[in-house]
Amino acid sequence: PRNPPPTLHQPELWSHDFNDFISRCLIKDFELRPNVLDLLQHVFIKQTVGREKILQKQLIELTDLNQHERIHTKKGGHLKMQSAADEVEDLATLEALDENIVTEQLQSRYSRDQIYTYVGDILIAVNPFRKMEIYTPQHTKMYIGAKRTANPPHIFAVADIAYQSVVSYNTDQCVVISGESGAGKTESAHLLVQQLTVLGKANNRTLQEKILLVNSLVEAFGNACTAINDNSSRFGKYLEMKFTCGGTVVGAKICEYLLEKSRVIHQAVGERNFHIFYYVYAGLADRKKLAHYKLSDSKTPKYVDRLESLCRRRPDIVSNAFYKEQFDAVEQCFKVIGFTLEELGSVYSTLAAILNSGDIEFSAVASEHQTDKSNITNMSALENVASLLRIRSDELQEALTSHCVVARGETIVRPNTVEKAVEVRDAMGKALYGRLFSWIVNRINVLLRPDSQEAEKGLNIGILDIFGFENFKKNSFEQLCINIANEQIQFYFNQHIFAWEQDEYLNEEVDARMIEYEDNRPLLDLFLQKPMGMLSLLDEESRFPQATDQTLVEKFEDNLKTKSFWRPKRVDLGFGIHHYAGKVIYNAAGFLSKNRETLPADIILLLRSSENELIRKLVTHPLTKTGKEATLLLSGFCGVFSPDVWCQPSALGLNAPYHPRETTNMKTQTVASYFRYSLMDLLSKMVAGQPHFVRCIKPNNDRQANKFDREKVLVQLRYTGVLETAKIRRQGYSHRILFANFIKRYYLLAFNAHEEPPVTPETCAAIMEKARLENWAMGKTKVFLKYYHVEHLNLMVQLTT
Ligand code: ADP
Ligand code: MG
Repeated sequence: PRNPPPTLHQPELWSHDFNDFISRCLIKDFELRPNVLDLLQHVFIKQTVGREKILQKQLIELTDLNQHERIHTKKGGHLKMQSAADEVEDLATLEALDENIVTEQLQSRYSRDQIYTYVGDILIAVNPFRKMEIYTPQHTKMYIGAKRTANPPHIFAVADIAYQSVVSYNTDQCVVISGESGAGKTESAHLLVQQLTVLGKANNRTLQEKILLVNSLVEAFGNACTAINDNSSRFGKYLEMKFTCGGTVVGAKICEYLLEKSRVIHQAVGERNFHIFYYVYAGLADRKKLAHYKLSDSKTPKYVDRLESLCRRRPDIVSNAFYKEQFDAVEQCFKVIGFTLEELGSVYSTLAAILNSGDIEFSAVASEHQTDKSNITNMSALENVASLLRIRSDELQEALTSHCVVARGETIVRPNTVEKAVEVRDAMGKALYGRLFSWIVNRINVLLRPDSQEAEKGLNIGILDIFGFENFKKNSFEQLCINIANEQIQFYFNQHIFAWEQDEYLNEEVDARMIEYEDNRPLLDLFLQKPMGMLSLLDEESRFPQATDQTLVEKFEDNLKTKSFWRPKRVDLGFGIHHYAGKVIYNAAGFLSKNRETLPADIILLLRSSENELIRKLVTHPLTKTGKEATLLLSGFCGVFSPDVWCQPSALGLNAPYHPRETTNMKTQTVASYFRYSLMDLLSKMVAGQPHFVRCIKPNNDRQANKFDREKVLVQLRYTGVLETAKIRRQGYSHRILFANFIKRYYLLAFNAHEEPPVTPETCAAIMEKARLENWAMGKTKVFLKYYHVEHLNLMVQLTT
């Protein structure tokens, strides 16, 4: 049973003393609290005449109003009435808190177009799957510098908090956006950037414009239509916006993670290649430039030749007209950001070369001694690739159909089987695309880099938009990596919310009930521990030439002794993992080759001989000059690996096993170890800043507006820790203030201005008592307050001064 709706017609509430009145409201009428504060802000602080009268009148009016009605003050601010039965904007303020109530709250809000809800300082965003009128310039304005309670919850408010923190406290900020595929992460990231560019008013408009275009550009290359999302990000993205201490945006930088390169050569049924291939093909056709890029009008390249009907849902986004438009848009982005025409030409050539390479076909040649030679059946495709990459076609042919082995100091040329030749062709396509993507990202970073002086004292707001947890019918190496990344982010979230919270209580000897939560640490051990974690085992097996995917799974089975890992019977290469977000069955087919991801030396050498500067760059140089990036890139490219940058494991809540000081003197860098490194690099960036969390929720699986599938939402709430968060926030003390700071800020509430009370817990207690507040706690060095205490104290100070 719920509390009866609160009412202000309680005579004992009203008092002649205004401070007393606030206290009574706050303490007695907890559910009413946000509204009272709203009122105080709108009526009381902004309009300073006739304070008590106006307030009293409005409060009474309000309680008499229909519960859902809003009234507008003269200044246009909104005032919203809530009761216990009504919805709240911050779930952490709910009296009772269980799964059903939270889901109910979200559903009720969603049904009234309130897609955003707070849980303490976490923002929940439920995907509306339709255009909302809440991102207008008016909204942009409304959220600038506004108190959190002054407006409905919004992604713009998160941008504002991050920005205000940068300006006021001069600390880096980091917004972590999570959720499953299609939940709205990328949209949220866009909206954050949009608001932040307004907030960080760049002196030069072009920088603002450029930063906004960066997303569209990298998404053209890194996103694709999948079964779940028409614009699914197939890479992880960490965008850093750079600010001066004064809060002016001066640059930006992107890091990309785990681009799903395999998509270039293969797409699951109903899925498509990266957007850019369709854009380029349609765009070049429109400009009658196909021939120039060795593409045929009549014969669609295999890599973009997917039946249109396969992407049933959105005919408008698979049309040539749309692609053409997008091509123009992408080209415009390139130009505005500052790419040269020559660079653009090289980018198109590389893309065209990849498209052509998909059409190179092989047939087996029977010879007297060997039956496993291969021949290229369509030489024209080969010629096209060679000409686009500006390399010699005979050399390319050789590199595809044969390989060198060094035996006893002698180099012997061996023919490739058809299977092997196909493998080399695909490896080349994937590598070219992956490196092209990295090159574009790095070029953007160079073009948007603040000048060195600004960069030195600059501050960052990072926005992490990384693929959510994936669980498909068939899950491979890519899903494993993605899910490990999510596991790690979840761990960070848990650490932040729960463990750090409790640590502080313990340090301060404040009594806090231990909150139980799902600790996914054992899973991280399972993946990342050395030398017996999954990734280590994978690397070890990848070093044995005789190893197969079968031996790999067996190795897993022999070494991973935990309930979270199992092998379903009779599925040869299958293994299951119980992730924090659910059980996933993986298929290890291709794990070893995907992990080795070797581009034959012949191909690398050949590409290095290209007459095209960009192609040479892709296979030779580290792409940027800064040491750290160069290390990262090199490690991904050539196998040099020396992580010089690392943060303390303790800061991550991690113990020794995750320390990435790789003992890799490995000749070839594997995808797994590179992945592990980039994951650690990402985490080190995240822990360096103050985090903000946006949890995106997908309300249904059909991408339908106005459809709220409770069961679906509930599962997401459970595994994102939202429920526990709400609980701990409510029970916990969200503010801890050092005695000295506390006294400095609030002593006027209990002492005279000229007094200098001693910095002791007793002084703090005196202030709290004077303010008639309860339920706070005294630590060893800090006062522990609930967030409404702080709001109340601030208000009282404003009123007394
Ligand atoms: P994710 O990045 O989590 O996979 P996206 O951000 O690409 O998901 O969102 C998937 C789709 O959902 C978008 O293409 C868009 O149609 C819709 N969507 C997401 N967030 C919003 C929003 N705030 N307003 C309107 N539509 C949205
Ligand atoms: Mg996305």
